[in-house]
Amino acid sequence: MNRVGTGTIKMLLQIAKTVNPASFPVKGERHPPRDPIPGQLRRLIRRLILVVPILLSILSTNCRMTEKTETQPPATQPDSKPNDAIAIHRRAIAIDMHADTTQRLVDEHVDLTQRLPDGHLDSVRAREGGLDAQFFSIWVEPELFGGGGARAMKRADDQIAAVKALTEKHPEIWQLATTAAEIRRIAAEDKLAALTGLEGGYAIDEKIENVERYYKLGVRYMSPAWTDSLSWAGSSGDEAGKTRGLNAFGKQVVREMNRLGMMVDVSHVSDKTFWDIVNTSARPVIATHSACRALVNEPRNLTDEMIVALAKTGGVVNVIFYPAFIEPGWNEKKKQVDKEIAGLVQRASEEELGDVAHKKLARDRVRREEFARRLPPAKVSRLVDHIDHIVKLVGIDHVGIGSDFDGIQATLVDLASVADLPNLTRELLRRGYSESDVDKILGGNMLRVMEAQK
Ligand SMILES: [Zn+2]
Repeated sequence: MNRVGTGTIKMLLQIAKTVNPASFPVKGERHPPRDPIPGQLRRLIRRLILVVPILLSILSTNCRMTEKTETQPPATQPDSKPNDAIAIHRRAIAIDMHADTTQRLVDEHVDLTQRLPDGHLDSVRAREGGLDAQFFSIWVEPELFGGGGARAMKRADDQIAAVKALTEKHPEIWQLATTAAEIRRIAAEDKLAALTGLEGGYAIDEKIENVERYYKLGVRYMSPAWTDSLSWAGSSGDEAGKTRGLNAFGKQVVREMNRLGMMVDVSHVSDKTFWDIVNTSARPVIATHSACRALVNEPRNLTDEMIVALAKTGGVVNVIFYPAFIEPGWNEKKKQVDKEIAGLVQRASEEELGDVAHKKLARDRVRREEFARRLPPAKVSRLVDHIDHIVKLVGIDHVGIGSDFDGIQATLVDLASVADLPNLTRELLRRGYSESDVDKILGGNMLRVMEAQK
């Protein structure tokens, strides 16, 4: 849409330039210049002159605005700056803190420059949705690749290499970024910034020097645990995590991350690990894809006390888009459906002849289809309920977004892919959030946190 729009604007500007309005009689002019154009043609040209500015204004509203940073002058007069939801959305720098599309790059070899028929993210839909920066999750599933050791490291390295390859193959669309300044620059160039974060610290293989190794590979956040606890960090997803926090090594990891400027992510960690992180970290702490436990009582979500403590570090809760963690009662129903479809899922896995990663893809495909058919729809307004809750607790400066796209088997009906991101802005504006609030929620708060890491 963007390229077509820009081309059309250029064409119309050319027409406007060709038709010189100065050659027509001006009101009040006593001696109009001789008019060499016949009446019929003149009327046509006059109409064009009237229509061109209207067309230009409609088109520029629908196009990605170039004024992505405050330092750039606005393209139009300040008082004519459009204030509809789309214009506000496109002016903001939108940063999604978490998507699992990385595994699609490695396991399915998807071409992210094309509009994909499935999944939640590609560059075509990212542009439609006004996204500016994507943190690609570097996720090592311990069950498949080990909770440490060479295989876990290789799995992480393969994913990092896949993101890098994407940016090297398509620099006209994707640019690798590691800092807030780079995100701002890439957004101003109308490209997409690609960043990476480790989901679970399995790949550091209990070696402190590996934190720096991953930092040097471009990784800018790490959640110590995914759903399996490690010896040094408890997870919210297993029995061990119920009593496990950070041990001495875990605290050393957090301090090393602080030293390097790698953000500490509390999504997935146990409650005890959360408190150990908040009490150890000297830098703002983030949750990359979590929601509020006060609204949906899931261990993956944060209690009000946790949100307050995280905000005190200067950090940000990036709200996940997954109905299981934001729609009350949804996850209970999902667990029931999981039982009902267990046979179907098992069969899909057995019929898939590929490797473990492909068997998982086959299982997820069945889950996705069955969840869509059997579970109640949830809407973007529910996501904004969680944003509202965080804002009421700690103010506008501590909330952001982390979709978990391509890592979830169900989406909100009106936020079913990155292309639907403007629906979030519409709902925020409908609830009375200002343009500057929307800027902060979509990415401004995370830019601040990234800038505060060193
Ligand atoms: Zn996750």
